[in-house]
Amino acid sequence: MPLLQNHIAVVTGAASGIGRAIALGYGREGARLVLLDINEKGAAEAAQEIRSAGGEAESFALDVTRREDCIAVAKQVADKVGQVSILVNNAGINRRNAFTADPGAVLKDWQDIMATNLNGTFNVTHAFLEPLLASKGRIVNIGSIQSFVHVRTPNSPAYTTSKHGVLGFTRALAAELGKHGVRVNAIGPGLIETPLNASVRANDPGLVKIFIDHTPLGRAGKPEDIVGPAIFLASDLSSYVTGSIVMADGGYRSI
Ligand code: NAP
Repeated sequence: MPLLQNHIAVVTGAASGIGRAIALGYGREGARLVLLDINEKGAAEAAQEIRSAGGEAESFALDVTRREDCIAVAKQVADKVGQVSILVNNAGINRRNAFTADPGAVLKDWQDIMATNLNGTFNVTHAFLEPLLASKGRIVNIGSIQSFVHVRTPNSPAYTTSKHGVLGFTRALAAELGKHGVRVNAIGPGLIETPLNASVRANDPGLVKIFIDHTPLGRAGKPEDIVGPAIFLASDLSSYVTGSIVMADGGYRSI
């Protein structure tokens, strides 16, 4: 039997990269998908891809930084789709200005990254809290290597801070929601080849080399490399796992 049969799963940032791969993977495991993204067209295309493969999927436009919109979408989903039992907080952005760069750029990076990566995770989780409590649901947050370290490449300190925050939020919610039967975990991807880092990969091969040289598996990851951990954490396979982060980083953080 498919691992996610009878579940309704919400994935944010599902139009692209890791979120899209997770949504497709959940679809293959029998979940009914709700794809949310600021990129409405991309989310609709991903939903169509799931339906074409025989799955069930709907998409809604959502900017996770907008708290009121998150609440409105949660209501729409409850009315049109049903009770959500899995939430993947995946929508995220990165910027690469150092803290010593132009002050205006540094401030904008800080505000945008926190609004999306951290406040967005809060906004969507809070908006879907009721069905997640009612279903004894599962929350999967997308952290990073940078939930632990600031990687030795050009990078915004806001990104590292936001991903530490995502891990802290994961642990805090796991502690509080465990008694309600809700499990909350995170995934820590390493360097995964997605549009998020396409330009930096194209323009700065030295950066890729720093990552690969430090990665025991000796390669960058693909979005599909995150799908197995995401299915594990959303399914009954992880029934006694909460407050954890599963690193899917080719071993980067182990050395
Ligand atoms: P991606 O390919 O850029 O996909 C992110 C998706 O989120 C895009 O469709 C993007 O839309 C959407 N999005 C951005 N801001 C949003 C908002 N405010 N509301 C709703 N949707 C929004 O990136 P990815 O690499 O798959 O990243 C997914 C997650 O993994 C992020 O949290 C990222 O920090 C994390 N991560 C990635 C890596 C990596 O190496 N790729 C490593 C560790 C962690 P637009 O394209 O229109 O902006």
